[in-house]
Amino acid sequence: MMRALVMEQGADGLASARIKDVDEGLMPAGEVTVRVEYSTLNYKDGLCLSPKGGGLVRNYPHVPGIDFAGTVEASEDARYAPGDKVVLTGWRVGEVQWGGYAEKARVKADWLVPLPDGITPRQAMAVGTAGFTAMLAILALEDHGLTPDKGPVLVTGAAGGVGSVATAILANLGYEVAGVTGRPEQADYLKSLGASQIVARGDLNETVKRPLETETWAGCIDAVGGEMLARVLGQLKYGGSVAAIGLAGGASLPASVIPFLLRGVNLLGIDSVMQPFDNRQRAWARIATDLPMDKLEAMTVPAALEDLPQLGADILKGQVKGRVVVSI
Ligand code: NDP
Repeated sequence: MMRALVMEQGADGLASARIKDVDEGLMPAGEVTVRVEYSTLNYKDGLCLSPKGGGLVRNYPHVPGIDFAGTVEASEDARYAPGDKVVLTGWRVGEVQWGGYAEKARVKADWLVPLPDGITPRQAMAVGTAGFTAMLAILALEDHGLTPDKGPVLVTGAAGGVGSVATAILANLGYEVAGVTGRPEQADYLKSLGASQIVARGDLNETVKRPLETETWAGCIDAVGGEMLARVLGQLKYGGSVAAIGLAGGASLPASVIPFLLRGVNLLGIDSVMQPFDNRQRAWARIATDLPMDKLEAMTVPAALEDLPQLGADILKGQVKGRVVVSI
């Protein structure tokens, strides 16, 4: 038996969470069994913990948790042996597959990444999908020519998970970071992570009036989408790029193509779920070198399985600051 947070459907079709002992034999098929040490909370976890599963969960009973880190307990794949430290993000684990909110997880070997030297399972989950996505976004911006001398980089949804990690890494790499937040009380927190400028959400979430505004940002990591992303496109410097990672403010994009045509700006899509293994290794290696671990600790809040139903509701309302680490 293993202890797990299980989403179970009631007679009304709505799911709710219970912490209970589950037969290990019910875990899905896979080559590697991992003893999960830590998991975390991402926006998607909030959806999977919600009564309707956010449209992501297909079958109940379900164990959510889109990320986990821990130690290999058994492996039928030559790449992994008992005792190896591993991390998993994405691949729809915790959505269609059972995830990390349990003492054990059984998954495909292809989905795992060996934990890089210098990162503990707890730190890996302080990073989680949110931080991994922040790193993918920075790599994409760099691949499109971003360097610290090009000018300030805007991070939207800055006090959230992706935004917090992006701010800390960019500042550590020498970038001037401007953080957009709807929570002015988080200004000191964002400055402690390295933001040098705080932009009020209200300044950027109005409808675009002009397709081009003053050239302000050399790049942007956007967790918000919608009107804000449209505004940012018109404020990018010539040749600058936005890495679009999220839709916290909406899935629409009421934008003009003028910034693409007259300023050569780029809109870069970032997906963390289906990233090939080589990119995953590249991103985790850069996280190990470029994310200051004291800043990571400062943005991390500890939690237990019992806290997750409330935290899941909170993250859907944009009320979680930084990163949550769940001790399993
Ligand atoms: P969080 O909830 O931790 O952060 C989102 C932040 O966005 C909030 O903290 C808030 O920041 C801001 N925000 C929330 N609502 C609004 C709104 N209505 N308008 C403007 N800003 C808003 O979530 P994550 O950081 O974990 O994820 C951020 C987004 O990225 C989500 O949409 C998520 O689904 C997506 N995502 C995508 C991935 C991918 O593979 N592409 C991977 C991971 C996440 P503040 O209070 O500072 O304003």
